[in-house]
Amino acid sequence: MHLTIGWLYGTKMNIYGDRGNVLALEQRARWRGIPAETREIGLGEPIPDDVDIFFFGGGQDQEQIAVSADLQGEKGEALKAAVEDGAALLAVCGGYQLLGHEYRPHDGPALLGIGLFDLVTEAGSERFIGNIVVESPFGELVGFENHSGLTHLGPGTEPLGRVRVGRGNNGRDGTEGARYKHAVGCYMHGSLLPKNPDFADWLLAAGLSRRQGGTPVELPPLDDDLERAAHAAAVTRAVRTR
Ligand code: GLN
Repeated sequence: MHLTIGWLYGTKMNIYGDRGNVLALEQRARWRGIPAETREIGLGEPIPDDVDIFFFGGGQDQEQIAVSADLQGEKGEALKAAVEDGAALLAVCGGYQLLGHEYRPHDGPALLGIGLFDLVTEAGSERFIGNIVVESPFGELVGFENHSGLTHLGPGTEPLGRVRVGRGNNGRDGTEGARYKHAVGCYMHGSLLPKNPDFADWLLAAGLSRRQGGTPVELPPLDDDLERAAHAAAVTRAVRTR
């Protein structure tokens, strides 16, 4: 077994520790004896056809302009086709916003997304900054949010979870993130995966199963004492500070 991670716009869309998600996926595979490699997919570069897991980090409005244009047409369609074929994907904040239909920033025209998730985002007047705790099918998730974007899910779109502490998609409907097949978008920077090992392993197993023709992949457990202690400390801080 071999893991290939496709890091979308790693130099442009990578803030608030998002790179840690790529490191966590690589390391959790290697700790199990699974070779892992990461390929950056930058502006003008095609979507490789052998990626198991895509990661798409956050970025400021300015960076999102060029990335939005780059994703239109063949590239965005190839990314959607990979997800339809079973590839796993994690997108955070600015990356998440561009996987919906569009993101309307404070200034300038709306930025087109690719419509992987049925959602739209508009910049709000308040910036949501702080630790966030979410109840999800992957258990309790903890991260850090920093966005002004207000994301509204389409009628059939499944959220990643419900906000217990923090603001989430829009600070109103109690949802955070979105899910479609093995693709997950959310506002949780942090980085997210090192402190949420069960979710990291779900993404890993989902991505690896693509090469096995969709047959579920069972990953042997790791000693996650440190990761779970970091998770608990982050949840305590979130509850105290918001
Ligand atoms: N520019 C977007 C917003 O502020 C995304 C920011 C981010 O990726 N943290 O909502």
